[in-house]
Amino acid sequence: MAYDWTQPPRGQAVALVSVYDIENNAVRQLAAGLRAAGRRVLEVYFKDWRNNRFEEPIDAELKALTRVLAEQGAGLVAISLRASAYEGVARQLAAYIRAHTGLPVVVGGWHATVRPESVIAFADAIVRGEADETFPVFVQRFFSHDPELARSPGTWVRHGADVEQNAPAARPAVLDRLPWRDYTHADKWVIDRHTVRRGDPMAGDPLHQVLCSLGCIQECSFCHNSFDDGSPGARLRFRSVSSVLDELAARRIANASIRRVRFDDEIFGIDRRWLREFAERYPKEVGLPFDFLTEPTVVSEEYATLLASAGAEWVHMGIQSTEEVNRDKLSRRANRETTLAAVERLTRHGIRIRYLTMVDIPGVTDEQKRALFEFFQSLPRPWDLYLFSLTHFPGSQMVEGLLRDGVLDPSEVEGAAHKTFSQYRVELSWPRDDADTWWIAMYVMQASGLVPRSLLSALVRAGVGRTATRPIVLAAHAATLAKTARVAARMARNGELTPTLVRRWWNPLAMVTM
Ligand code: SF4
Repeated sequence: MAYDWTQPPRGQAVALVSVYDIENNAVRQLAAGLRAAGRRVLEVYFKDWRNNRFEEPIDAELKALTRVLAEQGAGLVAISLRASAYEGVARQLAAYIRAHTGLPVVVGGWHATVRPESVIAFADAIVRGEADETFPVFVQRFFSHDPELARSPGTWVRHGADVEQNAPAARPAVLDRLPWRDYTHADKWVIDRHTVRRGDPMAGDPLHQVLCSLGCIQECSFCHNSFDDGSPGARLRFRSVSSVLDELAARRIANASIRRVRFDDEIFGIDRRWLREFAERYPKEVGLPFDFLTEPTVVSEEYATLLASAGAEWVHMGIQSTEEVNRDKLSRRANRETTLAAVERLTRHGIRIRYLTMVDIPGVTDEQKRALFEFFQSLPRPWDLYLFSLTHFPGSQMVEGLLRDGVLDPSEVEGAAHKTFSQYRVELSWPRDDADTWWIAMYVMQASGLVPRSLLSALVRAGVGRTATRPIVLAAHAATLAKTARVAARMARNGELTPTLVRRWWNPLAMVTM
């Protein structure tokens, strides 16, 4: 039954529920803004994710959630649904919360933006697009009993059998005006298995992740950036360097355990003037080693020089596949020459590269898989390989095109499907055909740095183990295990190995490749 918005709120707090995501930036940022406006906010981190393993919510967790809502005086519940695969969990939570508390449930986040019809079917309202400026308006109208609630910008609101569909609101234009994420407030709960802990789960984390910009200059067909939600305003926006550095300085004071910063921008430092100022100030004002994400087409000599001088240690560089596959199947621009030039520059400046690469792309030929192997053979060692399995995320150009052409069934798209529960980062134990498993095992041994290149070339030339892959897979497992041990030892030495990381990633029966 639809929520009756004309009744007065049952409590005065708004609860923000993060689903399987204890790092959720959006929840912390929204909480900070709402608290600054005088609203009591309950942050609930409902379960954490475990790589390639999914645990259904258990009764104890659902009861703990509704107990927190009731005891803390929640009047409105908002679920942050970023990953499409958790749509079913959000539906279950919404139904449970409504049945046991009678509170209205709003759903926001990426999945509500790309699949609003699907989400409004189980929510009382949804917030589409970036919610930093729209959700506070909805909250204010809800608690002040404003008759304009159903016309809140950027929302869809269910009343009776109808849904009021409001137009997308403009994206926040000035990111510096958005509040910094709140890590310190006491009104935070983590509910996971049979435990309920009070406090922010990331408050003492040695890795601090931060965004300096939103949006991307590319529109790779498989990526969420190829989806336009119709919100007016520029998609690519930057914070000022001062805003970023001031926030980092404040976090260092609040959390003495921070050892490393990760800039999670889609492509870090694409504005050259911004990057020059950052490179000048970051070493003096923050000075922590940092990682960043990039893409080969932006890696000029100046870019690599500035990042090295600022203290960059690791770069996550998306290469995805070979030039031909990138161009024909993924709408990516970087060719082989550009990519190798980026590799040479970053390596010469001492920045170690983690290559983000995608496999399980339908229609990729054996020759193209061999070309990827040859590309990896040409890379200077050491390097790391973050292998991802192509996943059909709703809204991406690739998926919407395949759906239109009838090549893909809606049941194969995340939300209805849950591939990310079992195969996001690649594991060799996942069922795929022998040829693919064999190539992946070869890539993994290349990245391990333990097997001589000449031996790998000989194995590939002779096709050793192609039809009976077990020995090659076992060798790749051994290489992965050795590399995992090395990485874990280094992180432990640096104070960066946390129980959260171990819980998420350690699974000796299904080692994630690296
Ligand atoms: S460069 Fe990366 S973030 Fe940007 S559209 Fe491509 S895959 Fe997405």
